[in-house]
Amino acid sequence: MQPKVYYIKANRFLLEDEERQGGFLKVEHGLFGDFINEAPPSATIIDWTGYTIAPGLFDTHIHGVNGYDIMDGTAEAVDTISKAILPFGVTRFLPTTLTASDEGIVKAIHAITEAVDKGLSGAKSEGIFLEGPYFTEKYKGAQNPIYFKNPSVTEFNEWQKLAKGTIVKIAIAPERENAIEFIREIGRDVVVGIAHTDASFECCKEAVDAGARKFIHLFNGMSGLHHREPGVVGAALVDSRAYAELICDGFHVHPEVATMALKLKKDKLVLITDCMRAGLMPDGNYLLGEFPVVMKDGIAKTESGSLAGSTLTLIEGVLNLQAWSQEPLYRVWHRGSLSPAASIGKADQFGSIEKGKVADYVVLDSELTVRAVAVEGVLKYERDL
Ligand SMILES: [Zn+2]
Repeated sequence: MQPKVYYIKANRFLLEDEERQGGFLKVEHGLFGDFINEAPPSATIIDWTGYTIAPGLFDTHIHGVNGYDIMDGTAEAVDTISKAILPFGVTRFLPTTLTASDEGIVKAIHAITEAVDKGLSGAKSEGIFLEGPYFTEKYKGAQNPIYFKNPSVTEFNEWQKLAKGTIVKIAIAPERENAIEFIREIGRDVVVGIAHTDASFECCKEAVDAGARKFIHLFNGMSGLHHREPGVVGAALVDSRAYAELICDGFHVHPEVATMALKLKKDKLVLITDCMRAGLMPDGNYLLGEFPVVMKDGIAKTESGSLAGSTLTLIEGVLNLQAWSQEPLYRVWHRGSLSPAASIGKADQFGSIEKGKVADYVVLDSELTVRAVAVEGVLKYERDL
């Protein structure tokens, strides 16, 4: 049993606006406390000399990993995913659905609520992300168009009721009929994102005016940027009210374009994985929803050649973007911890090492490999040496 109050001693702490060298960080009853230079003589000290302490990562868009998918519709799948991402520094996540039949979506919602009620063994769920089914066909990616339809507040409210109010985010195509009214209504309590869409720049602006606050996997599943037709990408890049998600595996978005997105979106850039069941698995054949997917050299594609989610871990995404952009590590790290939390209105609780916030943290060695992970101040993972 770990003590309820202790001090972390480490060489380096990644804070929101700087990195701090040395000192002792207090953890009390699962929350971060103050930094002090000398710990009181009677204090319990957890000694991570030689290591770096960073806030826990938060994956706000993840479908599956390790052979399991949220759409399997079982509590076992949800718990396996929660356990599998913890060793990669992820302490919070949003279990993410795909476009499916009403039955499929309902089954997934039940599985998530069941797993969360039982208590997840790894990363904690901060709510459900419904990716679909209110999309349009042109940039469908691996979403199944036979289930696409117009947004319906009544239908959404049914799902929200089944989920006991835990749906925190939904992605839609804003050019669909009723979309703007839907955003106005739902966007008051739930983060509405824009995805799998061929909307115009003007339509996206209208959606953000109505309350949409996020662009889902920026550049993927949307119309691109043209200097005379800025499209969805243009709206995402210039509208500072909205967050933009980015998959930094080097395949979904070119490294230079990812770096440009960081420069333009700053703290509104949210690193995600969009990982599917082939993540952490060998190359081979998998299913994404009802579509067969082939993974070769870690890249998952549908038969038509569309990228089908990723097999990225969030920490790889963070380290890739840091290497590409040459920005300080603390700045890029927070795009995988604090920006995700802020993007769903939870920055006051998660995402950075700050007094009063939940003590989710990652212990990194000198190679920036995860050595240990704590959730709510309790060590939940430690790598064997
Ligand atoms: Zn998608």
